Amino acid sequence: MATSANDDIKMIYMDHAATTYVHDEAVAAMVPFFTQKIGNPAAVYRYAGEAAKAVAEARRTIAESLGAEPSEIIFTSGGTESDNMAMGMGRGHVITTAFEHHAILEPCKALQKSGTEVTYVSPGADGLIDPDAVRAAIRPDTKLISVMFANNEIGTVQPIEEIGRVAHEYGIMFHTDAVQAYGHLPIDVRKMNVDVLSASGHKLGGPKGVGFVYVKNGIKAAPVLIGGPQERGLRAGTLNVPGIVGLGVAASVSMRDMERNEIYVRGLRDRLIDGVMHSMTGARLNGHPTRRLPGNANFSFKGIEGETLLILLDRERICASSGSACSTGAIEPSHVLTAIGLDAAEAAGSLRLTLSERNTAEEVDAVIEALGRIIGRLRSMRKA
Ligand SMILES: *Cc1c(COP(=O)(O)O)cnc(C)c1O
Repeated sequence: MATSANDDIKMIYMDHAATTYVHDEAVAAMVPFFTQKIGNPAAVYRYAGEAAKAVAEARRTIAESLGAEPSEIIFTSGGTESDNMAMGMGRGHVITTAFEHHAILEPCKALQKSGTEVTYVSPGADGLIDPDAVRAAIRPDTKLISVMFANNEIGTVQPIEEIGRVAHEYGIMFHTDAVQAYGHLPIDVRKMNVDVLSASGHKLGGPKGVGFVYVKNGIKAAPVLIGGPQERGLRAGTLNVPGIVGLGVAASVSMRDMERNEIYVRGLRDRLIDGVMHSMTGARLNGHPTRRLPGNANFSFKGIEGETLLILLDRERICASSGSACSTGAIEPSHVLTAIGLDAAEAAGSLRLTLSERNTAEEVDAVIEALGRIIGRLRSMRKA
């Protein structure tokens, strides 16, 4: 069982798509950059040199993990900034999907306000984007296509290589928000026809507030933050050295353990899905049954409110989410679930449980048991 560091209260954490623990190796690697090697990597003295060397090493590790060049990696403050930078390349006409993260959808709204047209391709009922639907949306003035690698709510993994091929057939730039996939699934930007990619540290066992954007050599990006000459003028501001070091180590640990974790976490996920689907009536699994992230399970329960479910699960020390974390508390149903065709009532009753290698089969069984009990109680209250 996962226990929090400072007390012995046992909690079951199944919200790894919202944020992850930081790997011990990453924490250990970061500490000296807070306490000793505190130099600004832009300075000339030795401590600064050590910081610059550590940043270069993180950049190399990350580039290697994607089949990219170190010069193609730009460190940012996280997924949101990387997505904003990518969408800043939108001109003329942009194609994206209806179920992207808000870090893509809000910049799209801003593009529309300034005269750029945006087409939102809808996923199928299984949560997959059809590359032919993307092709059908292409116009002579389309300059950018952005399709997320894996959806943060329902976990569906998109046919990125095929969509990238379609984009390149027409000479259109292709961006993917890979925040949920990077560190969890193998990614090769060259093979997958990706020109620009966003990732975030805290979704793969790195710290919060640090991420990167991969921008293929030869592509002209525009900075979001302007000021100093850091990151080849593409991202001004003193580098977050400890964060970058932590991200680099998290990336390296993720790559090292990926295959083993993928098999283990997928096993837990399928145990959870089978358990819930077999023991509860009126349960539906949202998203594709197999083409989904190893750790993602997303259910709807007929007649049950997601928020109520979360509160009752919290009383049993089970951490889960409903809709995306950013819109928790909002009354509107999840735009992801409505995009795959759920009606408002169904979308309001969703529950997302996201697993990692820190979870155990005992935790999964405890969650299935607690869920069954809570849903049974809620249903009998409704009948009474
Ligand atoms: C978490 C997330 C983001 C935002 O990343 P931050 O580092 O939290 O800004 C963007 N896209 C997706 C798909 C995400 O899951």
